[in-house]
Amino acid sequence: MKILALSAGLMAAATTAFAQQDSLMFRKISDEVLLNGTCYDQLRVLCKTVGHRLAGSPGAEKAVKWGEKAMKESGADKVWLQPVNVPQWIRGKESLELKMGSSYKSVPTLSLGNSEGTGGRPLEAEIIMVNSFDEYKKLSDKAVKDKIVFFNYRFRQDFVNSFEGYGDAVAYRWNSPNVAAKRGAAGVIIRSMSTGIDDFPHTGSMHYEDSVTVKLPEMAIGNITADELEAACKKGKVLARMKSECHMNPKLVPSYNVIGEIKGSEQPERIITIGGHLDSWDVGEGAHDDGAGCVQAIEVIRTLKAIGYKPKYTIRAVLFMNEENGNKGGHAYADSAIAKKENHLVAFESDAGGFSPRGIGLEMSDAQKAHIRKYKDLFMPYNVYDFDHEEGGVDISPLKYKYKVPLAGLLPDSQRYFDYHHTANDVFEVVNHRELKLGAVTMAQFVYLVCEHGLE
Ligand SMILES: [Zn+2]
Repeated sequence: MKILALSAGLMAAATTAFAQQDSLMFRKISDEVLLNGTCYDQLRVLCKTVGHRLAGSPGAEKAVKWGEKAMKESGADKVWLQPVNVPQWIRGKESLELKMGSSYKSVPTLSLGNSEGTGGRPLEAEIIMVNSFDEYKKLSDKAVKDKIVFFNYRFRQDFVNSFEGYGDAVAYRWNSPNVAAKRGAAGVIIRSMSTGIDDFPHTGSMHYEDSVTVKLPEMAIGNITADELEAACKKGKVLARMKSECHMNPKLVPSYNVIGEIKGSEQPERIITIGGHLDSWDVGEGAHDDGAGCVQAIEVIRTLKAIGYKPKYTIRAVLFMNEENGNKGGHAYADSAIAKKENHLVAFESDAGGFSPRGIGLEMSDAQKAHIRKYKDLFMPYNVYDFDHEEGGVDISPLKYKYKVPLAGLLPDSQRYFDYHHTANDVFEVVNHRELKLGAVTMAQFVYLVCEHGLE
């Protein structure tokens, strides 16, 4: 009994010492980022000198050069560009006019990414409004034919986590032109996927199903215009005049993922990937989506170097290209990992905005989740407490489904993300320097944790 009690005591002491060392390292990482972090300045340079950067655009080309330079400045042991062929969608000029009374009025609008426009010619038709796909199904084919269908589905405000509201609403952006084309409609207008009480239209990806032969134009309007249009449709006949030049280049064009790494000191063949996506939509500055994730990943490299930490495993920061409208960068990275038979321990993405971190999503085995959750208390002083969500990231998802790599995703506070997401208002000024840095702190702490204690 005595011996058992003694050994239990020793074990407790050892665990405490371990935990103490970990918590000191967590603090050291946090101090380094909050006092000397450069991610906010890097984000300013990206947003203000490069600006928006849709894959295949001149902005994206500039962003690759920025990323390569920023990665080198972080002190990475090795920096390289990984070639990726990406789609090239070009917006061109666009306008939407609504006749809700006696005359036409021009309203703020954005065509949805990947959609084909009206060829620059005006498309004029009567609007038919529905509040959901269920309502749409109840319409007769005659009621839909040759009309512009207004899918007036509201982003649900009752979800506390706004990503659930996004998941609930996003099919209206992604799929409306397909269901409308099948019944002979002329075009589609959607209420934006937006929590905002403003009039910013939100763009984002849509897709045409292979079975659909007519590629209908699709435009988004902000919540204020949508409310106005809803009221007018309830009153009587409303006409719309859509005009847009957007189109997809039939050929892919060359681009790059930007990669930087710290070589592991003991098992360099084992790789921990951290990252965000370098491309953004072609409005605003892509500050939260996903300039934040890029500068945070670079900050992790800088911080580990600055505090003199020598990771056992190789830490690789990846700025992925083309998350927004194709995910070609994510696929190229996974395909290369498979071809080279690389040994990937875990991949961790930040692509949910540069807001205060609240948790880490875990998309891995139950045993691995349980292992990470054992260290929850280390994160608590940083207000990071949510380890219950199954979340990774779009760019790293091919690593999981093609190569079975466990994933993690930064979970920042979600209240404001869908006010800015994919809008002209996603600019540097709406990012807070402390919140952005705290996200980098969480990422670096997670990397340290996996280096010291593994994943199971
Ligand atoms: Zn994103």
